[in-house]
Formats: sequence, structure tokens, C-alpha cells
Amino acid sequence: MTANDDIIRSWAERPGRHIVNLSGGKDSTALAIFMRDKLPQVEYLFCDTHKELPETYEYLDRLSAYLQRPIIKLNAQRGFDHWLDMYGGMLPSARVRWCTRKLKIEPFETYVGSDTIWSYVGIRADEARSGYVSTKTNIHPIFPFKEFGLGISDIERLLESSGLGLPSYYEWRQRSGCTFCFFQRSGEWVGLKERHPELFEQAKAYETERGGEKFFWRQRESLAELEQPERIAQIKAQHTIRLELERKRRPDQPLIDLVGAALDAEDDDLGCDICHL
Ligand code: SF4
Repeated sequence: MTANDDIIRSWAERPGRHIVNLSGGKDSTALAIFMRDKLPQVEYLFCDTHKELPETYEYLDRLSAYLQRPIIKLNAQRGFDHWLDMYGGMLPSARVRWCTRKLKIEPFETYVGSDTIWSYVGIRADEARSGYVSTKTNIHPIFPFKEFGLGISDIERLLESSGLGLPSYYEWRQRSGCTFCFFQRSGEWVGLKERHPELFEQAKAYETERGGEKFFWRQRESLAELEQPERIAQIKAQHTIRLELERKRRPDQPLIDLVGAALDAEDDDLGCDICHL
């Protein structure tokens, strides 16, 4: 019996329900793969905003086939548009993030009720962040990657060995979540416009100006401004410079990681601990 076996046994012996919340991102997917044979009683959940990328839905279908388990989708009736109406058309933002509460946290907490929950979270051993921890006393977080000391290269290996690989949107975007997530970097918005022009148009259609107030996804500019050819050229040029710097700094790194680092070099908010795992 190894120390790792002891850890798994200690999880399995805890009375209550065991849940992995999926976001459609690489870390929570790798966690599901990691847990599959260790704890067969795990329930897999996905809080659907109804505004995810088609690549995300397809990736979750492939994951479900790999797990040979259903992925329970919450929010069947009420997606993003319902809550946007409830909030009077006020778009969510990093400061007023009603979307995460209404579409991720509350549906999860309602679904589990007062049951004792062991909630497995895909924060890696090489990450400083602590992740979202529920304020409900019946929901207890467990961090398997931290307990097993697994970092980014282990996560990539898990994804490769399962045959799932990285989500295909990683070629142009680093995060799971809504198509129009306000945490996106400029380069990711350009990626959305180029890969999914109809979804970019939908995101643009949410933006309005009322009574002198701007309801934009980005503070500094509207999407109509961002999509101007000269602005797109500028964004791409900046991205190329950052990518080259990353390539020189870490020549052995896979391109996909360099693209991520180049996007991360923008000084936006880091993202959402719940939506972007
Ligand atoms: S992905 Fe972004 S927009 Fe969607 S719920 Fe999460 S924080 Fe909000």
C-alpha cells in the first residue's frame, strides 16, 4: 500500500457525495480523467450557461464517452439570457460578476442541497491560487492535484494519454467559459471573430449605450471598435511580439503553452476560479 493509495482510500471512506465540477477546461477535464478509476462513485457536473463554445460541448461529450458516465448538466431551464433580463440588461463584469453566482455557484448549491459534499477541485500543485471555496458548511473542497503534487506537465500527460488532448479552442483561446466572457484578452476576442464570426456578432449585439452609460464587455473599448481592421492588426502585432519574446525565453516549450503565456502577458484580470478550470 503506497502513500497515494492511502490518500485515495481516505477520500473513498468519507461519507457523503463525491462531485467533480467540470468547466470544459483542461484542468477540470484532467481531474475527471484522474478520478475515473480511483473513485467510481464520483458524480460529474457541468453548470451550463447556454453560451459555451461549440468546442466545449463537443469536448464534454467526448469526456463523457471516455468516463463512460453521464455528465449532469445543470441550468437546463435558465441560461445566461434569463439572468441578463433579471439584471435589467446589465452585462456582468469582473467587478459585478453576477453570472458566476447565478449560473455556477447557486445552481450547484441548489443541486446538492444539504447533503454532505466532497467537491474535488482541479487546482494544480504548481498554482498559487486557492480556488473557489463554498461558504456552505456541508460542501468540503478536496484538491487531488495538490495532494498528489501534479503540475501542468502531468495534466497535459493525463489529457494526452486519455486520447482527449487539449480542448481544440486552446489554439486561439486559453479559457473555457462563455463565448463572450469579459475575462477574455484582446487576442482571444480576435480569435472568436475569426473562428466563430456569428458568435462574435452575438456578443456584439449584447453591447448597448443607455442614458449615457456604456454596457460593453470590455471597459476600454466596444467590440465594434475592437473589430476595426487597424485595431485587429495592432492586436495581432502585439501578440506576435509577445509570442516571440516567449519563444526566446523558453525555446523548448510547446507552442500552445507559448501562445497561452503571450496571451497571459496582457494585464487583464486573471479570470474566474470557477468558470476557467
Ligand atoms: S465564463 Fe465569464 S461570462 Fe461566463 S459565467 Fe463565467 S465569468 Fe461569467
